[in-house]
Amino acid sequence: MPLEEISWLRRGACRSSDPDLFFPLAPSPSQEASAKAVCAGCQVIEECRSYALRAGESEGIWGGLTPQERRRTRFPKGLRSPAAS
Ligand code: SF4
Repeated sequence: MPLEEISWLRRGACRSSDPDLFFPLAPSPSQEASAKAVCAGCQVIEECRSYALRAGESEGIWGGLTPQERRRTRFPKGLRSPAAS
């Protein structure tokens, strides 16, 4: 991926946060809420979310969305097969 495509990352609010907050080893509701709070105040949340959806990022919180939330956004319920829902 060309670096200029993710140059917005330099302006991300998470630059000064612990990366483990956004990539937890195990699901943690409180950690997820803390990461989402950082994203909520981020000036590049739209770019970040758009990138993660487009790139199919499968791990971590990007643009205030968990991997599960991104999957639901990319594959709305009506478009999923019964086995995948
Ligand atoms: S939206 Fe969240 S993950 Fe994306 S750059 Fe901003 S703080 Fe980081």
